Order: sequence, then structure tokens, then C-alpha cells
Amino acid sequence: MSQVRRQTAVLPRPNWGWQDDAACRGEDLMLFFGPDGERQPERDIRERKAKQVCASCPVRMECLNYAVARPEKYGTWGGLNEDERSAERRRRMRRANAA
Ligand code: SF4
Repeated sequence: MSQVRRQTAVLPRPNWGWQDDAACRGEDLMLFFGPDGERQPERDIRERKAKQVCASCPVRMECLNYAVARPEKYGTWGGLNEDERSAERRRRMRRANAA
């Protein structure tokens, strides 16, 4: 009896293990991403609540590093909103260029 071998490409896979410990597991995604057309001050209130969850998250740095290293344009990641992540990305690039 011959055995059929399935060949699969071996690609590097991102490490998602940190997400298992995320404080936002089970939370409503809308808390972190918000609805289309969201306005102030609702956005500020929602982001403040999302950041409170992030503040107690044991994998906050892993989450932030993930989101800053990729073009994650939307949502609250690692306790930072879009604008704050852009600033953090620029700060890290300046630091890397200066080294
Ligand atoms: S830092 Fe915030 S968004 Fe990231 S995994 Fe933790 S709770 Fe979720």
C-alpha cells in the first residue's frame, strides 16, 4: 500500500502566541476599532475604555510591537490609537537611524 505524501510549503509564520494572554480576549471588537463615522467625543470615550483594558494587559508590549511594526492603520493596539502609534513608529525610526 503506497502512502500519498502531501507537500506543503514551509513558510515563516508570525508568532501569535501572545494573543492567548490578551486582556481583550472576549471583549467587543467595537471597543477597540469603533464604528464607521464615529465622532468626538464618543471616540475619545471609547478609546479611553479600550486603553483601560490595555493598561492591565500582560502582553501589551508584544501587541504594541506587533502593531507598530506593521501598517495597522486602525484601532487601539497596545494602548495606543492610530495617531499615537504613528508617532511611536516615527520615534522608533528616528532612534534606529540615530544608532
Ligand atoms: S494591549 Fe490591548 S489590544 Fe493589545 S492584546 Fe492587550 S488588551 Fe488587546
